[in-house]
Amino acid sequence: MLLSFCHKTCGLTGYVCESCLLCSLVKTIDQFEYDGCDNCEAYLQMKGNREMVYECTSSSFDGVVAMMSPEDSWVAKWQRISNFKPGVYAVTVTGRLPPGVVRELKSRGVIYKSRDTAVKT
Ligand SMILES: [Zn+2]
Repeated sequence: MLLSFCHKTCGLTGYVCESCLLCSLVKTIDQFEYDGCDNCEAYLQMKGNREMVYECTSSSFDGVVAMMSPEDSWVAKWQRISNFKPGVYAVTVTGRLPPGVVRELKSRGVIYKSRDTAVKT
């Protein structure tokens, strides 16, 4: 069961899960540091860079959905993540990517949409 690593959903303690601010993928902070984000590593380069992991992920997120087959998942369509890898995704994430990172993304043609529903723009 994929969700079992996350204390937010199953009550286990000892692991702190973070959600990627760009794609909302949920993993432990160590997983982000060792492997980077499954979807965004090309842009965010979090692998081996704990500071970047802290900047580009948030431990403040609500609701998680497990996505197993992105191609035909209504959840994926709803979350606009049909191109993403199977995994656990947060429904809403509180926090924003640093402005420097957002600029970098823009220069590569990636439009960053915050999933932080608490922030009105
Ligand atoms: Zn990501």
